[in-house]
Amino acid sequence: MAKSAVTVAPRKPTRQLMLGGVAIGGGAPVSVQSMTTTKTADVDGTLQQIYALAAAGADIVRCTCNDQAAAEGLARIVPRSPVPIVADIHFHVEMALAALDAGVTGLRLNPGNLRKPEEIKLVAAEARDRGVPIRIGVNAGSLHPELYKRFGGATPEALVESARQELAYFGEVDFHDVKISVKASNVALMIQAYRLASETFDYPLHLGVTEAGPPPGGLIKATAGIATLLAEGIGDTIRYSLTADPVEEARAGRQLLEALGLRERRGLDLIACPSCGRAEIDVIGVAKSVQIALEERKIPLQVAVMGCVVNGPGEAREADIGIAAGRHKGHLFIKGKIIRVVPEDQMVEALVAEAEKVVAEGIEARLAAADSNAEAEAEADRRLLFEEKGADANRSEEVVLKIRKHLEANGKNGTPSGETPQA
Ligand code: SF4
Repeated sequence: MAKSAVTVAPRKPTRQLMLGGVAIGGGAPVSVQSMTTTKTADVDGTLQQIYALAAAGADIVRCTCNDQAAAEGLARIVPRSPVPIVADIHFHVEMALAALDAGVTGLRLNPGNLRKPEEIKLVAAEARDRGVPIRIGVNAGSLHPELYKRFGGATPEALVESARQELAYFGEVDFHDVKISVKASNVALMIQAYRLASETFDYPLHLGVTEAGPPPGGLIKATAGIATLLAEGIGDTIRYSLTADPVEEARAGRQLLEALGLRERRGLDLIACPSCGRAEIDVIGVAKSVQIALEERKIPLQVAVMGCVVNGPGEAREADIGIAAGRHKGHLFIKGKIIRVVPEDQMVEALVAEAEKVVAEGIEARLAAADSNAEAEAEADRRLLFEEKGADANRSEEVVLKIRKHLEANGKNGTPSGETPQA
């Protein structure tokens, strides 16, 4: 369905940055972010959550990088994520550097708890050299104590000043690939802080009410803050911070943007893996053919196109239906369960035909009609493919060794700080 011709307000002009393939600011569509709640070291669990978030509407996903195991997890997650991954950094400069080694698309730094200017500049210089954007994530709850004292509390001016100081450090190393957030759990404070930030900076703004709490109260608070600002033309990317399954955050963000006419309503919801060292097909080409065929038929399902059978069906098990490629065959799956194995040159047709049957007969009926040999055939393909491609098709383990070497050379591995703020 087309975007509404009526708009809430003209968007405030901001600079544009690219977070992987997602443009932020400068007139780009407002994007939706969310954050995983799994341990980042749990690679498969985190990837499953990332796929579920992408299917629910997240354009960008943030994962915490609070210790060495998390950094190593990121090295294995990034090549297989369908959306750009941002590493959330709080206390440890080493974790910021390790996340960059892991290949993340973006970083979020909290100026309130990564405070040493030389460390901030070191991270900015490394990010600059790698073309990785940074979000300056100011948070009223963890404002730098000096600013808290100077401004007599976490005022809008204090939050904006914190971002300005961080920008000045970045400027010293000629780094400008930046977006800014000035979050607070108090909605009125958050609104005033973002209004001031919008007057002060031309960098893209990431909106959020931090620690909004569980739904429905959390949804109301977050919507009150984010929607008010969007209706004034302020904000380039948003996150709902709910005490809930993050899928609810992504869904809420997407629905808010659709309600305000800032994003198109979705009929077909196609997710495709990014393709990586394990890919067996041209994922982009197949995804395109599937998209054209399903849009023509107005199929209102979540459909996944996955490059390999080793990880595809598991990663995309939240999708209604999908196809994964392997050894010149396509594994057709519904809700992660393989229902049929077809020759590779018939995989698009088979997927489209099955999607029509799912719409007509329902998911349960189509699961009941599954080919009883399909799971065994698929398992044999997976095993052979794993043997052919080896365990490190993405060379993630090489990156992990590099991360270990760097952290061990510095004698630091990001000793847990006791808490990892996630706002
Ligand atoms: S090719 Fe396989 S492992 Fe790689 S991103 Fe696609 S589904 Fe995941």
